[in-house]
Amino acid sequence: MKTTQYLLATLREDPSDAETISHKLMLRAGLIRREGSASGLYSWLPTGLKVLRKVEAIVREEMDATGAAEVLMPMVQPADLWEESGRWFDFGPELLRINDRHQREFCLGPTHEEVITAIVRDEIRSYKQCPAVFYQIQTKFRDERRPRFGVMRAREFLMKDAYSFHTSEESLAETYQVMHEAYHRIFSRLGLEFRAVIADTGSIGGSKSHEFHVLAQSGEDAIAFSDTSEYAANIEKAESLAPLNVRPEASSTLQKVATPDARSIDSVCQQLSVEPQQTIKTLIVKGALEESPAIAICLRGDHELNEIKIEKHPLVAAPCHLLDEAEVRQAVNCAVGSIGPVGLNIPTIIDRDAAVVANFVCGANEDGFHMTGVNWERDAPITETFDCRNIVEGDSSPDGQGKLTIKRGIEVGHIFQLGTKYSEAMKANVLSESGKSVTLSMGCYGIGVSRVVAAAIEQNHDEYGIIWPDNIAPFQVAIVPMNMHRSHRVAEAADKLYQQLRDAKIEVIFDDRKERAGVMFADMELIGVPHRIVISERGIDAGTFEYKHRRDNEKLNIPIDEVFAFVQ
Ligand code: ATP
Ligand code: MG
Ligand code: MG
Ligand code: MG
Repeated sequence: MKTTQYLLATLREDPSDAETISHKLMLRAGLIRREGSASGLYSWLPTGLKVLRKVEAIVREEMDATGAAEVLMPMVQPADLWEESGRWFDFGPELLRINDRHQREFCLGPTHEEVITAIVRDEIRSYKQCPAVFYQIQTKFRDERRPRFGVMRAREFLMKDAYSFHTSEESLAETYQVMHEAYHRIFSRLGLEFRAVIADTGSIGGSKSHEFHVLAQSGEDAIAFSDTSEYAANIEKAESLAPLNVRPEASSTLQKVATPDARSIDSVCQQLSVEPQQTIKTLIVKGALEESPAIAICLRGDHELNEIKIEKHPLVAAPCHLLDEAEVRQAVNCAVGSIGPVGLNIPTIIDRDAAVVANFVCGANEDGFHMTGVNWERDAPITETFDCRNIVEGDSSPDGQGKLTIKRGIEVGHIFQLGTKYSEAMKANVLSESGKSVTLSMGCYGIGVSRVVAAAIEQNHDEYGIIWPDNIAPFQVAIVPMNMHRSHRVAEAADKLYQQLRDAKIEVIFDDRKERAGVMFADMELIGVPHRIVISERGIDAGTFEYKHRRDNEKLNIPIDEVFAFVQ
């Protein structure tokens, strides 16, 4: 590729609206551009697309190696499939719903469990065809509440999603393990420092789940792992969401009220003579424990609720007997209900945007009692009365081995054992060996292909720009000729090397612009090409080219006929 025939699109200055390093560098290095005024929608320019395709290729190779079969499903999906699974009603505002000209309802696929389950229901009839494993690499749309950090949290993004179908839990567990190992190979080949952690299954449902995190300071998630054992878990965005701690001494007017039947929001409202009516924007229910059916009611909050998340405490393996998301959602229009563990009293209702949330009723650290008039304040010191159980660095590991280290991570992959949640609802059955109809068990396995590109930059950069891991660099070699437009010898030598490299199928960018050397060097460093070869009159006289690797400071003068071997 010659730069004059290419869209380098590099920028000298940091774009003002980019917060993270990867977002800045992706814009500056000409990888992506935001689509007009819309947030979370990006075009991939040539250099960015080259990297994206390389990530995709590695993912595809490893998926193929597991024996999964590639498919491509539609991005636009009919509402009736989603009604069958029940998610048309519970998915919430991340699901972008649209109507066609006949006023039929559709959505833009945020994920494809429904579509694949419908295919399998129709096409797979016998246990002999199982396990059946499919994958696709395809555009997803999620109407994220806060799209940000460029392609890291976009609304339209590229995902690899795989789905497996089984006639037994053992078979599901086996494929899950195969995928787990494939993910290890993928992220290793991508040249990333990553950790697999135990994760919550959240609203997707299911029983077992791991997330794969690229370690990076800018990560939105926090992960905790033991310094001596294999234990590693997601701490559920603990740092970004928590702590909202109670502030009783300032303006709360605490009162303890008996609430015997704390399991139903309605009954608590009645008990407390609360007029259930108002809503808040985001309801995060976290830290719920098995024995903790206490309910907190928000008495005030003049926002419109548009997201509900129920996040169990990740370090507690026990299942929760909680109101499920649908029940909370139902209750929300009359009052904001949430569940907090009695005795622990982890802050349970969080409006992410509010600094102080006032006048709550919440669990009173005592079974069957609630406190009224509680104010939550972001980052207030933890008081004795309200023991906030956030995990902190140095806590003992839940497996009893070692102390926890907490690091920030970017979720780049997520695998789930879903069980029969979708197959049961959508009647995906096959005939077993004994001729009986069995409901298929299902697994799903995602990788954020486009997010990986940003994550790789978060981990691999310096003050001059991106330093791509070799396997995903857009070009392997940059040829930078000095004064080529005045020196016939330089032009000729550069051209020759360019042809040789191209013939050998080595990806090379030849900077043939009439630019100052400094500009060319800066651009090649910014876009992160691993090998740089400078060709000059002086070098040619000495029979050498100058070689530098993007990761090294040292420049080497190497004999012209050895250059070719050097960059391979
Ligand atoms: P997050 O917690 O970051 O919102 P998620 O848990 O909602 O992600 P999954 O449903 O597990 O995402 O989807 C599989 C993968 O898709 C994620 O692990 C992530 O790498 C990627 N992904 C999810 N949402 C986005 C997004 N808005 N932009 C880019 N990639 C995304
Ligand atoms: Mg999400
Ligand atoms: Mg997540
Ligand atoms: Mg996830």
